[in-house]
Amino acid sequence: MYQALYRSFRPETFHDILGQEHIVRILTNQINGNSTSHAYLFCGTRGTGKTSTARILAKGVNCLATQGERPCGSCENCRNITNGTFMDVIEIDAASNNGVENIRELRESVKYPPVSGRCKVYIIDEVHMLSTGAFNALLKTLEEPPENVMFILATTEVQKLPATILSRCLRLDFHRVPEKQLSEGMREICNSLGIEITDGALGLIASNADGSVRDGLSLLEQCIAGGEESVKRQDVLTVLGSSGEETFLEITDCVIHHNVSEALLLLNRILEDGKEVRQFMKDWISHYRCLLLTKYIKNPEDMLNMSMENVERIRSQSQALDLFTIDQSIITLSKALNDARWSTQPRILLELSIVKLASGEFFHQNENGHNVFNETKAKAVEPAQNSIPTKSVQERTIPEKLTQEKPLQEQERPSQDKPVIHSNINCDLSKLWQSMFTDPNVVKGSFHLLKRGTSLREVSENGFVVEVSNELLKKCAMENAEQLEALMERHIGKRLRMECVLSTQIESKAEDQVDKLANAIGKRFGLSIDIK
Ligand SMILES: [Zn+2]
Repeated sequence: MYQALYRSFRPETFHDILGQEHIVRILTNQINGNSTSHAYLFCGTRGTGKTSTARILAKGVNCLATQGERPCGSCENCRNITNGTFMDVIEIDAASNNGVENIRELRESVKYPPVSGRCKVYIIDEVHMLSTGAFNALLKTLEEPPENVMFILATTEVQKLPATILSRCLRLDFHRVPEKQLSEGMREICNSLGIEITDGALGLIASNADGSVRDGLSLLEQCIAGGEESVKRQDVLTVLGSSGEETFLEITDCVIHHNVSEALLLLNRILEDGKEVRQFMKDWISHYRCLLLTKYIKNPEDMLNMSMENVERIRSQSQALDLFTIDQSIITLSKALNDARWSTQPRILLELSIVKLASGEFFHQNENGHNVFNETKAKAVEPAQNSIPTKSVQERTIPEKLTQEKPLQEQERPSQDKPVIHSNINCDLSKLWQSMFTDPNVVKGSFHLLKRGTSLREVSENGFVVEVSNELLKKCAMENAEQLEALMERHIGKRLRMECVLSTQIESKAEDQVDKLANAIGKRFGLSIDIK
């Protein structure tokens, strides 16, 4: 029968456990000194070996070996525990047995002595899933544990456990397994399976496993699922649905040179090739990490896990960027990745990040020497404060007083020159629009992207209408709405609300009007007029 890699290579003795030396040391000492505790709490992220260690501990206290290391892994008890046929090791998945009834049953069975072993071991996985009643029932057992009974509770979310439970257990925290150890562990597995695997491939799997042995092994498994006898970096990339270093060097080059359209087109090609958006974000963040490391480490080859040629290219790209830009790029992309977890359209978030990165929205400083980034943050919380849903951008109303305006106003009123006020708003619209971009008080960022592809369509008592040629510019315009409205106020002397329309919408509006007109004329003359 087929068995998943992580099952067939489940550690059987303390030796086999990867990356948890601190825990192994404590447990072996306790087993050797016969001083094991009645209750353990194993905490840590998924795939770090909690359940495996629990089983090994169960073997350790039941092992029949009289000398040498315990568990031996070969005596009858050890073998039975490995096969899951040992009566005195009981595994409970709290996720599906979380009621008081289940724990009462457990309390009943606890009373009976072990059948064939020395110690009855209860392993309760995902213990944080227990109901409050079940926790209370469990607590009673933990308070007065019978002889020869051991509880091992395992959880990924220790913060959900009641303090009363925590205080009665010996808590052991499992760490994420370092990449190097993961690679070495997987190399041994590949050797035993007769599979050749390159360092690059191993490194890539290890870094994507994010410290989880289980995740690493299932990734490796996918790479060899087709019966491959050798695995290369490219094979792993294919499985991951991620792109090679090449792509990231290229797209980063685009944003360094403020080439938004090139970057967006490149992204489009990559996604058409079937790459996954979130994976792309993750990998791009890793690319910026490489740029960051290269800034500080003289010989980054060991840490970067890539060919010498690419290391050279990373080095020159890193030199072209300042630390602040790298820093802010990582923050921007991480935020997008985080938001993408809850978004049905992660692609838009990625595209918006590209615009931000390419426009360098974050690396301008205002007159006080503060980064504009802080103001961007303020902008992000502003809609919530005014309880305006961000979606209905077009219906936005202008709040009476905007905190956002303050920095502008502070800057814009130097004593020497008063703002120009046009009393007549019927001036040349395109001139007026262009003057917005030469205004010395403009907080730059994504604002300058509006220079092209937008125009001022209408200024009236009710507000002003900005026409944009695509969705991206619309988003950008709406992001800069406060600033545009403030600038407009300084130019025409009146606070007006901005409306933003797509060129295509205007066309359809015009069509609507022609239709209406045709209808009216038709009614009058009793004709049916068809507009082509
Ligand atoms: Zn044994």
